[in-house]
Amino acid sequence: MSANQSRINAIAKIIDREPKQYEKLAPLSEIWACDVFNLAAMEEALSKKAFKAIKNTVQTGAALDAATADIVAAAMKDWAMSKGAKFFSHIFYPMTNITAEKHDGFIITNSDGNAITEFTGSLLIKGEPDGSSFPNGSLRMTNAARGYTAWDPTSPAYVMQTANGATLMIPSVFMSWTGQSLDKKIPLLRSNAAMDKAAHKVLALMGETDIAPLNSSCGAEQEYFLVDENFANSRPDLLLAGRTLFGAAPAKGQEFDDHYFGAIPARVQVFMQDFENKLYRLGIPAKTHHNEVAPGQFELAPYYEAANVAADHQQLMMTIMTSTAKEHGFICLLHEKPFAGINGSGKHVNWSVGNSTQGNLLDPGNSPHENLNFLLFCGAVIRGVHLYGPLLRAVIASAANDHRLGANEAPPAILSVYLGDQLEGVFNDIKEGKLVAKGEGGLMDLGLSQILKFERDPGDRNRTSPFAFTGNRFEFRAVGSSQSVSGPLVSMNTMLADSLDWIAEQLAASLAGGADKTAAVIAVLKEIMDLHGNVIFGGDGYSSEWHRVAVEERGLKNIPTTADALPAFKDEAVISLFKDTGVLTTEELASRFEVYSEQYILSIEVEAKLVIDMATTQIYPASIQAMSTLAGTSASLKSIGVELQNYGLQGMATESNAMMAAVGELSTALKKHDHESVEAHMNFSAYTICPLMLEVRAHADALEGLVPDELWPLPKYQEMLFIK
Ligand code: ADP
Ligand code: MG
Repeated sequence: MSANQSRINAIAKIIDREPKQYEKLAPLSEIWACDVFNLAAMEEALSKKAFKAIKNTVQTGAALDAATADIVAAAMKDWAMSKGAKFFSHIFYPMTNITAEKHDGFIITNSDGNAITEFTGSLLIKGEPDGSSFPNGSLRMTNAARGYTAWDPTSPAYVMQTANGATLMIPSVFMSWTGQSLDKKIPLLRSNAAMDKAAHKVLALMGETDIAPLNSSCGAEQEYFLVDENFANSRPDLLLAGRTLFGAAPAKGQEFDDHYFGAIPARVQVFMQDFENKLYRLGIPAKTHHNEVAPGQFELAPYYEAANVAADHQQLMMTIMTSTAKEHGFICLLHEKPFAGINGSGKHVNWSVGNSTQGNLLDPGNSPHENLNFLLFCGAVIRGVHLYGPLLRAVIASAANDHRLGANEAPPAILSVYLGDQLEGVFNDIKEGKLVAKGEGGLMDLGLSQILKFERDPGDRNRTSPFAFTGNRFEFRAVGSSQSVSGPLVSMNTMLADSLDWIAEQLAASLAGGADKTAAVIAVLKEIMDLHGNVIFGGDGYSSEWHRVAVEERGLKNIPTTADALPAFKDEAVISLFKDTGVLTTEELASRFEVYSEQYILSIEVEAKLVIDMATTQIYPASIQAMSTLAGTSASLKSIGVELQNYGLQGMATESNAMMAAVGELSTALKKHDHESVEAHMNFSAYTICPLMLEVRAHADALEGLVPDELWPLPKYQEMLFIK
């Protein structure tokens, strides 16, 4: 079967396709978290004493004693086996965005040769996958590849039901045998602890006496595309790179006529129900929205949870989304920019910090002292984004997200903070001395109604801001759809810890100098505005004027590509930030630079090879075939004295030659291996390889408009994007 035949067959198959039949859903109350070994399940399974001990560990992170671990492990095994599990697995999150697991049986044989099942506390707590092939960024030698996984009891274990059976999954950290973090969970837990410690200091100085442990929260809105598998299977680029490396813009932009694909939206709905059902069983609080922005694009927003649990759930959600889509005949694309010229996908990370005694500290609250706490935490965020903007840019950097950031549909590659008119007004008043705490008789009243309640703007307020205050949280909008939320959460928690520490020092000094509390708060906020107010921006982030002002007048950085962004991990300020807060050692941070830059270089290399391959073996032959037919006809006509005005032939010849010339240049560029440094290699990828790929594409896309439709080998944009 020729390639174009497979495209035509795909269209036929899809037209005839029926939605997958779906059984009626069980009520939410029956399925909610039914596959999770959460506190409720533990309470049922454990003695009062054991439950009390494990509850303390789950809620405060206190160490678990060996005896309790044995009891919990045995109960967990019985619970899991009652759900059909014969295997268990520590599930962990290496430095790449993936989720990793290694399955072990509960089975052992005893001296009589009988098979029994066993699961001890030490097996629960510690696993030892052969981790040599996980990226470690020089933290381990391959010949000393020992890596350990250890249960994180603050994230509950669960049973994963798949077509291959049920497995007990144990959320875990992953470290080298020297105790260095090889994963994304350890830094997240540490960053939360650092934030908690610094927040305590500030709250204590503010006169709070009862301060419960603080936790960060996260609600991540996930965007994704669904493409029928028949199309995806005819597109090597979608299968291997997750995005189309070729494809002419469709005639009709983003509104497609879906007349003969009427059955499709029903398929999507059945997929969503099925998918959500699976999430509910795992205790993931999902709500789905259809996204109208691009055809074939959808969004899912779960309710927010503690950051550590939300991060685990986010990974799980991406896994289940992808596997469930397959069951419904779709390929789920989590790539940030699967289709050029069509809106890409992001993952807005909504983030706040709080506890059970002071509540959400990014919520302005209802009384003056809550307002003061709120303003301090908000000021801490402003300072953090200004000081560590390049770090925030670096943790969302990837070859894929580069296609989205700054493309006038996603936030620009300049980190600024959007506060909304009301709050920006308050901070400006503080800066200009309008809200001054006066000594005698004129103490300003920060219980002013103007800052009591911030209106929650409806919907997408300032879509052009990468980092926006949204009523009771900040929303980091520049995060990419395929990325783990851990990196962004770690950097936000850590920069907040750093700012709160700094604020605590300033406050302590003012208070020791005899200042009154309100005056001390206003003074520190004024200083933050003087030093960091430049990062606040409420205007149009897409405008070229902002790009100029941000860089030339405000001193902010415009960081267009991953090659420009990742070196932030080597900044002295960033190294000290992570070291001083105890979130990452210098070696751990360096290993992240190494792993991320390698991933960047590799993913561009894979794409470049695919571009060469598809242009040479699919597009060029189709164009030759088209030309030979046309040339034959033209010659026959000429023999009877008729001249064919074959613009198409001329155009195809020109574009084919130009395309293959660019392919040649790209192949030569890929052979260059003597890069001076990783930074130089990244720059070469960004500024030599990527433009060459685009050049090949430009000619190929022109050919798509010239080669007869029936000969074109690749499913076209309008075919893949018809689902609404
Ligand atoms: P919007 O559409 O205005 O962004 P949503 O209510 O859809 O608002 O919220 C988006 C995400 O933000 C959801 O995941 C939601 O649970 C989460 N969220 C809401 N409040 C908070 C909060 N205080 N901290 C963290 N995330 C939150
Ligand atoms: Mg939102």
